[in-house]
Amino acid sequence: MSRKGFRTGAIAAALAATLSTAAFVTASADTQQGAVSATRSLLGVPAADGSGAPSPESAPTTPTPTTTTTTTPPAPSPSESPLSPSSRSSTPAQPSSPASPSASSAPTQAPAPTPVQGGGAVQLTFDDGPDPRWTPQILEILSENNATATFFNIGQSAAHYPDLVRQIRAQGSQVANHTWDHPSLPSLGTAAITRELDRTDAAQGRTPCVRPPYGATSARVRSLIEARGQRQELWDIDTRDWARPGVASIEAQLLSATPGSTVLMHTGGGDRSQTVAALRDALPKLRAKGIALQGIPGC
Ligand SMILES: [Zn+2]
Repeated sequence: MSRKGFRTGAIAAALAATLSTAAFVTASADTQQGAVSATRSLLGVPAADGSGAPSPESAPTTPTPTTTTTTTPPAPSPSESPLSPSSRSSTPAQPSSPASPSASSAPTQAPAPTPVQGGGAVQLTFDDGPDPRWTPQILEILSENNATATFFNIGQSAAHYPDLVRQIRAQGSQVANHTWDHPSLPSLGTAAITRELDRTDAAQGRTPCVRPPYGATSARVRSLIEARGQRQELWDIDTRDWARPGVASIEAQLLSATPGSTVLMHTGGGDRSQTVAALRDALPKLRAKGIALQGIPGC
């Protein structure tokens, strides 16, 4: 090798080393960013933009409590994917809507209504509470109509408002587990799911029933819940009240319920005035038809 050849080779080697260092630095930065983002997602920390349409349980799955069909996570939509932390909103003034379950979820399709067989009652369920503004109003309407319901509470809110949890039980309604901060469970590992459910149980007491946020579940999530001695409960009728479609629309969904139906509504996660108004109108009409209104048996 000539002297010139040697020098060229040395320069090339030095260049290669530099390039490789640069590549490493770049990869490292990406990884770090990814980790931060993943951590934010796991912690349910809202992204900075604070945007987000209201909505929790869209109807992503085929909530048919009577079947054993495996449900799948909701198809993420660009604007409202429940998996996207950026779609969550933060409302610091209202710790009751933690992480705003309000903010996500993208109902891209309605669940096929599959009325539960048997039972003479319509089962009412309220997710994403407890909420200091809306939950007491809903409890009052339930009492006026000799009704009870199952409240799938967010652990974080239950921990913040223990008195509301007591009020729900005192009214005769049931408290159930809707995770600590409303993540989409299929995307979490076993340890994280367990932590979500454990923290919620610790906040409001162990409850028999669990409703996965967004109705997003899988065979793995379901068996994990069952292995804990709890049971997954979804719904038949989605009033879509989270989207604030208007009182008449929510009421029409409520009035479509027949004995055995499980109806999904929300007591937290945003402005629930339409839900309250619809309940006020619809519950007396259902009662007049001789339909009993109660929570999910055994929850
Ligand atoms: Zn929810």
